[in-house]
Amino acid sequence: MSILQNAIDSIAIGLEDYESTDGRRIVSSTRNIFAGILLLFKHKLCELSPKGTDEALIKQRVLPTIDSTGAVNWIGKGTKTVDVFNIEERFKSLNIIVDWPRLKKINQYRNDIEHYYSNMNNESVQQLISDSFIIIRDFISNELGQDPKELMGESYWKILVEVNEVYAKEKEESDETLEQLDYFSIEILDAIKSYRCGECGSGLIEAVSSTGNASESEFKCRSCEHTLHYENFIGLVINDFYETAMYLSHTDGDDTPVIDCPTCGEDTYIFHDNICASCGDSATHECQRCGCNIPPEEITDSDVCGYCAHMYEKLMAE
Ligand SMILES: [Zn+2]
Ligand SMILES: [Zn+2]
Ligand SMILES: [Zn+2]
Repeated sequence: MSILQNAIDSIAIGLEDYESTDGRRIVSSTRNIFAGILLLFKHKLCELSPKGTDEALIKQRVLPTIDSTGAVNWIGKGTKTVDVFNIEERFKSLNIIVDWPRLKKINQYRNDIEHYYSNMNNESVQQLISDSFIIIRDFISNELGQDPKELMGESYWKILVEVNEVYAKEKEESDETLEQLDYFSIEILDAIKSYRCGECGSGLIEAVSSTGNASESEFKCRSCEHTLHYENFIGLVINDFYETAMYLSHTDGDDTPVIDCPTCGEDTYIFHDNICASCGDSATHECQRCGCNIPPEEITDSDVCGYCAHMYEKLMAE
């Protein structure tokens, strides 16, 4: 069977798993759909592999050999095929376009559902299917030059389109409930909108109350109904939202995006936003003695920079 047929079958089985009433099939649904997408990608790499190279582009190991004319050819070796990382590297180099952040979100969800989530139901995987729909549709039409509806078959295509529409509508409704509350800053609202339930992974988080301060409200997951008060929830949200930026601050030396709040002590002080997502307090960012911008690691509840604080202490000790 061709890789392309395998890809379509795998996605189709994943959608059947999703539609099944047997809860145990939720995990296999995410697994099959993700595997199907990777097979679509591998099909493209196979198509592009030059003849006689033993499908070099889908093999992890590619070695140079010399043929009878003295020419060097790169030939695929062994049975190990490319993984997600290899595919991304090769696609980028071949100018094949995939929405990688979206694909990584699908992969992350697939991994989390196998290891962390306890409350999941069919609705929780709607976001994964909705994200998958976008990747599958764009890849089949833009990179394979085919009609996705024809390739997937009418009935499976219909499931993809419908889940995507239902999810988009529900997401819009949940976001509307969030927008009715008042936040310390607009960025905090954005962070909550992009948060996924810690119990089931659904992105459908809604506000329980319809007016007032967000910091006094409860938030509920629309799929599994897990509910948390702002104070128990905002730390998780901020942690998630700035995860990549925090990582880059360690590896690339960028400014730390989130620091411990000098007022309440929670690690939810958004430095560039100049606000703590937990208590709403703002610290002084400009030193009142020398006028410099105080860097994140020197933010305290005083209004001077680290150097000036040190000089002041020295002066007092004399
Ligand atoms: Zn949930
Ligand atoms: Zn605080
Ligand atoms: Zn200073």
